Amino acid sequence: MIVYADLHLHGPNAGGTSKNLSIELIAKYSKLKGLNLTASGDILNKEWLDMVRNSVVLDNGSFYHDVNGEKQHIMLQTEIETAGRVHHILLFPDFETVENVRSILGKYAKLDGYMNGRPRIALPAKETFKLLANEEIIFGPAHAFTPYFSIYAHYNSLKEAYGDLLDRVAFMELGLSADSYGANNIAELKNIPFLSNSDAHSFWPHRMGREFNKFELSNPNYKGLKDGLKFWEEKHLLNVGLNPQEGMYNRTACNSCYKIYSLKQAVENNWKCDCGKPIKKGVSERIEELSSPNQEYTRAKYVHSLPLAEIIQLALKSKNVFSVQVQSLWEKFVNTIGTEIDVLLNAKDETLLSIDENIAKYIIAFRKGYVVYKPGGGGSYGVPYITFSEAEKVAKQKEIDAEISGKAKQIQKKLF
Ligand SMILES: [Zn+2]
Ligand SMILES: [Zn+2]
Repeated sequence: MIVYADLHLHGPNAGGTSKNLSIELIAKYSKLKGLNLTASGDILNKEWLDMVRNSVVLDNGSFYHDVNGEKQHIMLQTEIETAGRVHHILLFPDFETVENVRSILGKYAKLDGYMNGRPRIALPAKETFKLLANEEIIFGPAHAFTPYFSIYAHYNSLKEAYGDLLDRVAFMELGLSADSYGANNIAELKNIPFLSNSDAHSFWPHRMGREFNKFELSNPNYKGLKDGLKFWEEKHLLNVGLNPQEGMYNRTACNSCYKIYSLKQAVENNWKCDCGKPIKKGVSERIEELSSPNQEYTRAKYVHSLPLAEIIQLALKSKNVFSVQVQSLWEKFVNTIGTEIDVLLNAKDETLLSIDENIAKYIIAFRKGYVVYKPGGGGSYGVPYITFSEAEKVAKQKEIDAEISGKAKQIQKKLF
């Protein structure tokens, strides 16, 4: 069966999450989104674990929550942090394994209570996963290139991070500032599938599932996914997510005024912006450093998209994604077509145009790739510009490039 999966979420005890988060709401909005396998988030956290346990039913190896008589499948999942602020995703087949891992990691981290949804383990990655070597779990790095909190921010290779347990690494999550096309150039990742997940702290469909994966799986559960990741070359069909240029750490840029620098300029400037604040290395430059040229691309296609509510917001030039206008058009599309994912990926252009011509034009522009971006960096999100033809796209891109290199020229002048 075709499975649309978002495998990285957070519960209410992760900090910065909506307090009223529940499995009911995750399941309800997953269904509208079109996800049929959604991560529980924060499953090692006692309060949330109890909530999840009381909200799901086990059926044939799959956990589900009933939404109006239909099964919404839930994957038991958590994110953990190991020494050096490196984040990883763990997936579990059952509650017994969750309890085993709780009792092992509980010796090294606070698992329960507020702000401990993502436990901080006081051990390096290698030693943490050695402790879990006998547990039936799937794991891999979370948002692998993000500055501050990722494997490639702290280590130069997965081997350095995981040591002998590297062959147990089942996937690598790209994160919002990267896509498969860039990451594919890193030679050591050749045999590892890339996941796109939302890392959402809320159930709203412009957060949950803002990045997701399309698989062909025997079942929407742990065992099905394990096989899907093992035979990923056939079973992983698509990554869908933001264009990396939208990510807030895509380019090397100032932490404070967000001026974009090339790697060379940043080095010459001693990693200090002319405004005096530090320059932060971008994901795209980090990937470039780790890359070797001419890697063959045999992976699933990565489709650049944007949550439907954000496309509507752009089309209406609305400031608020929760405005009545944005939300009512979102409902109109989703109620007519069935799910947001079908609106974005699968519905015919004519059907979209018959619902609302203006919004449909924007969705179609995304599908055709007529979108250019002012790249993000230094902690500021990138900005998408939707155009309606190839010529318009090329012109807008030139304008953005000139703006960025104009700034770069000003920097050069000050340097010499
Ligand atoms: Zn994280
Ligand atoms: Zn600055």
